[in-house]
Amino acid sequence: MKPRHVAIAGAGPAGLAMALYLKRAGHRVTLFERFVQPAPLGSGLILQPTGLTVLGDLGLFPRIAALGHRIDRLYGADALSGSTVLDVRYDAIKGGRYGIAVHRAALFDVLFEAVRQEGIAIDTGHDIAGVENGSGQAWLATDDGRRLGGFDLVVDASGARSRLRRHALRSCEPRPLPYGAFWVSLRARQGEAFGVNSLVQRYRRASTMIGVLPIGLPAPREDPMVAFFWSTKPDEAETLKRAGIASWKDGIHRLWPECEPYLAQIDSFEQMTLARYGHHTLPLPYGERLAVIGDAAHSTSPQLGQGANMALLDARALAHALQTSATPEEALPRYAASRRRHVRTFQMMSAAFTPFYQSDSAWLPFVRDKLAARLSMVPPAPQLLAMMVAGTFVDPFRPIGLQERDWLAGAQPVPQP
Ligand SMILES: Cc1cc2nc3c(=O)[nH]c(=O)nc-3n(C[C@H](O)[C@H](O)[C@H](O)COP(=O)(O)OP(=O)(O)OC[C@H]3O[C@@H](n4cnc5c(N)ncnc54)[C@H](O)[C@@H]3O)c2cc1C
Repeated sequence: MKPRHVAIAGAGPAGLAMALYLKRAGHRVTLFERFVQPAPLGSGLILQPTGLTVLGDLGLFPRIAALGHRIDRLYGADALSGSTVLDVRYDAIKGGRYGIAVHRAALFDVLFEAVRQEGIAIDTGHDIAGVENGSGQAWLATDDGRRLGGFDLVVDASGARSRLRRHALRSCEPRPLPYGAFWVSLRARQGEAFGVNSLVQRYRRASTMIGVLPIGLPAPREDPMVAFFWSTKPDEAETLKRAGIASWKDGIHRLWPECEPYLAQIDSFEQMTLARYGHHTLPLPYGERLAVIGDAAHSTSPQLGQGANMALLDARALAHALQTSATPEEALPRYAASRRRHVRTFQMMSAAFTPFYQSDSAWLPFVRDKLAARLSMVPPAPQLLAMMVAGTFVDPFRPIGLQERDWLAGAQPVPQP
């Protein structure tokens, strides 16, 4: 395809990866971001073998690996009985896969620095409100009445609260989920009872979930951190706050006393971010001169930890479709088709699994603790769970012209707890 002028709305993982792919393919790229100073929101996330393969494809794997923390296992137990509820190990399947948990600032900085090095224009302080088509080009409308463009293609990477996706051929809005979570990044503590290379969680029914995820360094030479999270209903956050931080900490301490070194670092609710979750999947994530990628196209709860990884896969998929098509019009349905099976499967699994861990149901956690926990240890369940967490349950690579990273090449020994 001859070089095109592409506008990208949103400088999250999807938008930044997209900008790198398009610039390297010879297109002219302008990235628009709502914030005056682009910065990541929230705490940490797990990059799965899928997202890590895309970052490797962009030449960024070594920088991410240097900052992040290797994850080999996801372990969850009932807070009162201590019995195992969830135990997923990446090595249940051959291939040497693992995840890398990162501080959001680390992921953002690595991508943002690469974007800057490529000399990609970043236009900040623009709240993009819509897309208009005219004179054979697409134009961006901003909140303050400006019209930016024209562009041959607009990529909507503006996240779960996108205002552009309504221009897709078939669109929908996220359905709010009843539970969200408080998240905070804290200094990692040595020697406590958390697995060295594990995400560890404690549950009480499906209404309480506490998690500790080691996320490595926010930036080179800084201290290692963990992401600490606690499931809650956003509607009840005010009531919680009124009861006071001490009462919230007491409740957690009763359920999981080993959290004390982390609770000691939390002085107020203001230190934490309240994340709200929603769920939607665009039936057709494109429109006239418009492609929708990442959370703008499909959002869900982070229960399966796939969102950022799917955003990175989307960016690679759109770049591949553009590279193998003669025009953007031809590329857009190809992009959608190349991601459809993977996105729908994981969105469906996320919708099915989330209520087992975040809901008011009494019987779902009962089934989870009494039946699913035992069944999950019987083959082929450990293998299926490992593929689900790794994001490879359905092959995401071949349809987007990507080969999975060789996990065994240059593998490092894993530190043992
Ligand atoms: C608490 C929590 C934990 C998570 N854990 C994981 C995990 O472990 N693994 C995982 O893979 N995913 C996880 N996710 C999901 C992951 O964060 C998202 O899927 C990912 O950030 C999506 O990337 P994105 O670039 O599509 O959107 P975003 O990261 O939301 O970025 C969108 C960007 O667009 C900008 N923007 C928004 N509106 C406009 C506008 N109108 N005009 C211009 N710019 C705009 C925003 O400022 C932002 O910079 C988690 C999410 C949460 C909330």
